[in-house]
Amino acid sequence: MKYTPMTPAPADADARKAIKPVICYSPETLPAVDTAMIDRARASMEKIDTVIVPPREAECFHVPAGHFFRIISSEGPQVGDLNLWNYDNPEERFYSGKTRALHGTHISTGDRMWSTIPYLRPMVTVTHDTLDWYGWDEFGGSVHDVIGTRCDPYTNYLLHQDHYHHCCHSNLTRAFGKHFGDYAKGELLVHDVMNVFMCTGFTLDTHQYFMKASPVRPGDYIEFFAEMNILGGLSACPGGDCSSEHSSDEAACYPLVVEVYRPDPATLEGWEAPAINGYDRSHGIKP
Ligand SMILES: [Zn+2]
Repeated sequence: MKYTPMTPAPADADARKAIKPVICYSPETLPAVDTAMIDRARASMEKIDTVIVPPREAECFHVPAGHFFRIISSEGPQVGDLNLWNYDNPEERFYSGKTRALHGTHISTGDRMWSTIPYLRPMVTVTHDTLDWYGWDEFGGSVHDVIGTRCDPYTNYLLHQDHYHHCCHSNLTRAFGKHFGDYAKGELLVHDVMNVFMCTGFTLDTHQYFMKASPVRPGDYIEFFAEMNILGGLSACPGGDCSSEHSSDEAACYPLVVEVYRPDPATLEGWEAPAINGYDRSHGIKP
């Protein structure tokens, strides 16, 4: 709140504000991650594909269900904007808002990235994160957020009346549009991202969204298990390490690397791709 309230506080204001919060969604009630299976599978996995994402560009990559992928920092500190689609039905895509409600503002090992309604099921599970040591800093910042959207040319135009074509939204639109075969429709399926390696938070006083230089260094990676057939889109953000600005060619930018790994199928015994959400979709409407 950045203005002076016009409404006088009621007599019981302190009592109302002192009520303790409750967690909206208890993650303990979600289906558990089979960590023993993940450990077995990780120990057996072999690299089958590598995709290089050039600076200020995006690339798509395919990860079959039951495979792993890593997003790796190379050459210098660089933030990535990650989109996920169901490879077989791209209308099912990553749901940033619900993932945030279920797991919090930033995700790490053991958290899932969930898909949009009406599917609402795990798309991927985070299985390793070399930046998990970071935790929270004194400013309220952390790494790998699901609170940002993606830098986009529309907001940039709103603020600067400038046509910049290498925002993550445009990079993802080009990469996904090329894969999808339709740039205009493809743009509509680009969605709010997981900000890989980005260090963000809300300021402690005014609760405004902030970014700061990413702590990522070459060799750091975040790793995921694909719970379904995944088409990923990764943009190497024009903001570079996001220490100053994005939506321009000013920041130093570096490539990101995606590696796809196949585990020994025998290690996946007991794992099943999650079914589509079980809600009956009647919404109480009588036939
Ligand atoms: Zn960006």
